[in-house]
Amino acid sequence: MRVAAQSTPMQTPATPIVRDIVLVGGGHSHVVALRYFAMHPLPGVRITLICTDAHTPYSGMLPGYVAGHYSYDDVHIDLCRLCAATGARFIQAEVIGLDREARTVHLRDRPDIEYDVVSINTGSTPQMRAPGAAEHAVPVKPITGFNQRWLQLLDKVAHAKRPLTIAIVGGGAGGVELCLAMQYRLRAETQAAGRADLAPEFHLFTSDGLLPTHNTGVQRRFTQVLAERGVQVHLQTPVAEVQAGRLRSAQGEWMEADEVLWVTQAGGGVWLQDTGLALTDNRCIRVHDTLQSITDPRVFAAGDVAAMENFALEKAGVFAVRMGMPLAINLQRAVQGLPLQPYRPQRHWLALISTGDKFAVASRGALGFAGAWVWRWKDWIDRRFMQRFSVQGVDGLAGLSGMTPSTASANPSIQLSPDEAQQAQAAVAMRCGGCGAKVGASVLSRALQNLWVQPNPDVLLGLDSPDDAAVVRVPPGKALVHSVDFFRAFVDDPYMFGRIAANHALGDLFAMGAQPHTATTIATVPPGVDRQVEATLRQMMQGAVEVLNAAGCTLVGGHSGEGAELALGFAVNGLVDVDVDGQMTGVLRKGGMQPGDVLLLTKPIGTGALFAAHGRAAAKGRWVQAALSSMVQSNQAAAETLRRFGATACTDLTGFGLIGHTVEMARPSGVQVVLDVAALPLLDGALECVQQGLLSSLHGANARQQHVVQNAAEAMAHPRWPLLVDPQTAGGLLASVPAPDALACLEALHAQGYGAACAIGRVQALPQGQAPVVLV
Ligand SMILES: Cc1cc2nc3c(=O)[nH]c(=O)nc-3n(C[C@H](O)[C@H](O)[C@H](O)COP(=O)(O)OP(=O)(O)OC[C@H]3O[C@@H](n4cnc5c(N)ncnc54)[C@H](O)[C@@H]3O)c2cc1C
Repeated sequence: MRVAAQSTPMQTPATPIVRDIVLVGGGHSHVVALRYFAMHPLPGVRITLICTDAHTPYSGMLPGYVAGHYSYDDVHIDLCRLCAATGARFIQAEVIGLDREARTVHLRDRPDIEYDVVSINTGSTPQMRAPGAAEHAVPVKPITGFNQRWLQLLDKVAHAKRPLTIAIVGGGAGGVELCLAMQYRLRAETQAAGRADLAPEFHLFTSDGLLPTHNTGVQRRFTQVLAERGVQVHLQTPVAEVQAGRLRSAQGEWMEADEVLWVTQAGGGVWLQDTGLALTDNRCIRVHDTLQSITDPRVFAAGDVAAMENFALEKAGVFAVRMGMPLAINLQRAVQGLPLQPYRPQRHWLALISTGDKFAVASRGALGFAGAWVWRWKDWIDRRFMQRFSVQGVDGLAGLSGMTPSTASANPSIQLSPDEAQQAQAAVAMRCGGCGAKVGASVLSRALQNLWVQPNPDVLLGLDSPDDAAVVRVPPGKALVHSVDFFRAFVDDPYMFGRIAANHALGDLFAMGAQPHTATTIATVPPGVDRQVEATLRQMMQGAVEVLNAAGCTLVGGHSGEGAELALGFAVNGLVDVDVDGQMTGVLRKGGMQPGDVLLLTKPIGTGALFAAHGRAAAKGRWVQAALSSMVQSNQAAAETLRRFGATACTDLTGFGLIGHTVEMARPSGVQVVLDVAALPLLDGALECVQQGLLSSLHGANARQQHVVQNAAEAMAHPRWPLLVDPQTAGGLLASVPAPDALACLEALHAQGYGAACAIGRVQALPQGQAPVVLV
């Protein structure tokens, strides 16, 4: 099937993307670089940050978090929000390799990302070479894993029947600081609970002396503090083996230990070994003074994972931060083909090491001083640093104080190949409409060439033998269920957008009780250089096809065209049974609700408000990531379960919001629905967004439907009202189930992973002259 692109006859797009700078890892250097890029944008250069976590810890405040002086948000930079505010793409994923020839970054469980220049700032993890350490000890990095374990340890200590023994392996600044912070916090917690006698015992193991890179005065002071706090320090005692519940020193002595924390010399990730880049023994990337790999001029590295050829730097956050600005400048110079600038690290640096109890020791070269005031000074420095990356308030960008984008050059000196120059010129020229707006055939075929589409014996002509249209057989005893959905991208990750768009389109079929069968697609992609257009299309279609395949739905054709914005839609076809008289059977419709039924909702609501907020960089990264996870969760299993428990009516929650879709069910059923507003499952952050007035653009139109609510005036005063009319993308199923089966149905839904599924109301006979919905 070929459908002409729905575009205005002519359009002039914004500057096309001609180069990609990809930042791998959300470390200290990259957050500094992101700020720099926002203040000094290069037109035509796209910045993409890929990180395993949406929030990255600031190392300087981490011990203070463990000690209980800071909250999680105080010590974490919200990468997703920072990217939204600075105009960078954020992709939450784990990088597992580089193909330097193809210039792609390999990601776990999702397609590769193309780069022109890539920068690696993935930090380091302790080298756990002792047998059993990897299985039984907890590395302090990556910090997300440590944080989960730390929260578990807090809980374990709170419920312990005897004092636990905690061993810290590593006597550098990180190990000592962490040890004192944990000791302080756990003693405070046990004392506050009246269980001071159950405060854990601490042991610190170090293969040489304490704080070997610091002066003797600082070493003496920490020796004294550790002794005063009852920490048993084992000097010159490397840990040689770890088993469950115990460890063995190199001297051969075994010691019981309930928890073993590893804070030793750190190295780069294992995946770096296969990149072919020159690495040090501990897998750090060897770089010139320009932070460029000595092997590959397109690869840069900074922070702990970088090993400068000419300087032996300690693995410290302070260097990672300092590298951020020169790194950003050199990345921009690299894409412009300009000579790079060297970075000269400072010879002496000030370390402020805390003792857990709001006291800190300053150490710089041969100097050292200490006091509660040093902690307050450190606290002031750290909070000021974090302030530079916090995006606060309704207008997220305002939070990046002091950030005034420089006037960008309209014509960056990026050297393009003759082909690229032609493509870039064509992209900014007046664009044709009609079939002149189609994506070029070679770009399209390259983008789709590795797409694996679910085979289907009913497809007589499909993508593998393309023609003017697809030909699909309807199996005997079946009828076709058709639906179509299309929308523009609301996230800048095309793979994720593809998954959500396909999932959203399939929602209608699941709600009807149909088995997805075949689909055609329509996609619009902003014009640009072929390589970027192809990559965007490939990412988006890969995401979509994975979802269609998983649902048993075969993509049989489609159309792609240029447009001002990325957009994707599907015409989906499903199958339902028909009996010998040609009547459909087993179809779930909106209009079957019965008085006495219980109304169930399978997913939380709030996507409209959350993505309105995200568009203004005003939503927290973890809210956005949780909402995305909810949106990619298929409704297929939920639909089967609802049918199994005798659902009488069903619909999927989409643009008209909860009230709109409830009315669509109540009216044809001739009933009234009593909605329990307090019971509604909400996505994290959704209420905060609407309370700040961050509403979807469709909200106003949905809210004008208040006449369908019996007690509208009272309902509209409820703080949750805006979420009742919040448009949903890839929302859950709304279904009425006979009351005796509702509880078992909910248990089954929970078991299938619909953790937020709950009963949100009941169905009753419609009182004469009343509106179809009433809120309680
Ligand atoms: C307890 C403790 C206290 C410390 N205190 C201080 C201090 O006070 N001052 C100081 O200067 N230094 C301190 N350090 C050292 C400091 O933590 C590190 O030197 C610093 O974090 C290194 O920063 P980075 O930018 O290289 O990487 P990191 O800050 O470690 O950031 C790396 C990022 O990359 C992400 N990532 C990792 N692998 C991948 C992957 N494969 N794919 C995608 N993303 C990935 C991670 O999730 C993380 O967000 C401390 C260390 C410890 C253990």
